[in-house]
Amino acid sequence: MQVPLLDLKGQFAKIKDEVMAEVSAVCESQIFILGDRVEKFEKEAAEYCGCKYSVGVSSGSDALLMCLMVENIGPGDEVITTPFSFFATAGAIARVGAKPVFVDVDPETFNINPDLIEAKITVRTKAIIPVHLFGQSADMGRIMEIANKHNLIVIEDSAQSIGAEYEGKRSGSMGHYGCFSFFPSKNLGCFGDGGLVSTNDEERYKLLKIFRNHGSNPKYYHKFIGGNFRLDSLQAAVLSVKIKYLDSWSEARQKNADEYRAFFAKAGLDKKVKLPAKAKFSVRHIYNQFSILLENKAVRDSLKEAFGKAGIGCDIYYPVPLHLQECFASLGYRKGDMPVSESISERILALPIYPESTTEQREYVVATMQAALN
Ligand SMILES: *Cc1c(COP(=O)(O)O)cnc(C)c1O
Repeated sequence: MQVPLLDLKGQFAKIKDEVMAEVSAVCESQIFILGDRVEKFEKEAAEYCGCKYSVGVSSGSDALLMCLMVENIGPGDEVITTPFSFFATAGAIARVGAKPVFVDVDPETFNINPDLIEAKITVRTKAIIPVHLFGQSADMGRIMEIANKHNLIVIEDSAQSIGAEYEGKRSGSMGHYGCFSFFPSKNLGCFGDGGLVSTNDEERYKLLKIFRNHGSNPKYYHKFIGGNFRLDSLQAAVLSVKIKYLDSWSEARQKNADEYRAFFAKAGLDKKVKLPAKAKFSVRHIYNQFSILLENKAVRDSLKEAFGKAGIGCDIYYPVPLHLQECFASLGYRKGDMPVSESISERILALPIYPESTTEQREYVVATMQAALN
């Protein structure tokens, strides 16, 4: 049996006629940059995310970059974030010339540990970028409390968590900004690169729209230096169709996660393997990933090999925590500085969880694991 880590073909087959009709309509209109379809999708996305405003952009990475640019964060400034994320989170900070300051993660949820944030705040700290990793919200109550006390901007990296909730509030609606990615492997993916920034602040919304288009306002008059951070009409058209199905896909992921938990328990594997932990506060986890922790690196690596031989897709998110990336050597971090992130990166493995994956496939994954770990 083959079990890919992600297979988008089944999803496409179900919505193909609807999507292709929209794609064709965009081609007939020959309006490809911004336009009505981007505005329509922005309204739908704002409503879905429980925010007043949203701005379609070119990618999740550009969403993060643009928020930092709008806040005029740059050289001499520090931005606090997690070392256990996709590179873009810290990359955006470095790209505006600011300094990423890493705070280790909670060993249960792998999200930034709020207990460790205040010790890293200095007079130069301007913002915090929490990441809602794998589809589960970071502790936004604590993070907003700290940010408000120290007058810091909060940019939620919601790239993996569209529709996730913290205490009933949607991901991306709690900070000053929420940044989303529509990279094809995210829960809501487009047919290429795309992203979105959400905000509840009208002034910030206006600035985001100006920065998205080279800082031009009115046309050919530039008070700011922005960039080409625009979302294409074609991508917006695809996203408007797909967002209607997003809740059903997220519910299927939750159901698949529950099934894994039941199968792991039945096989006695829940004692050998740490399954994704639920946070202490109430969350809606949308399982962009279902990542398990093994005992140590050797066990993880041999399991990965066994999965490969058995035709099961799996991957390591992320093998090198950001503070140990070569490009950040000048920041002066050493191995041992972020012990929780370092330990997780050696032991973690993501299993197939996509909506269309089947019960039989999950049974096969668990059986393969049982054989490999004995
Ligand atoms: C995917 C991702 C991004 C970047 O999004 P792109 O659309 O690929 O640029 C940023 N942060 C996190 C946590 C991500 O998972």
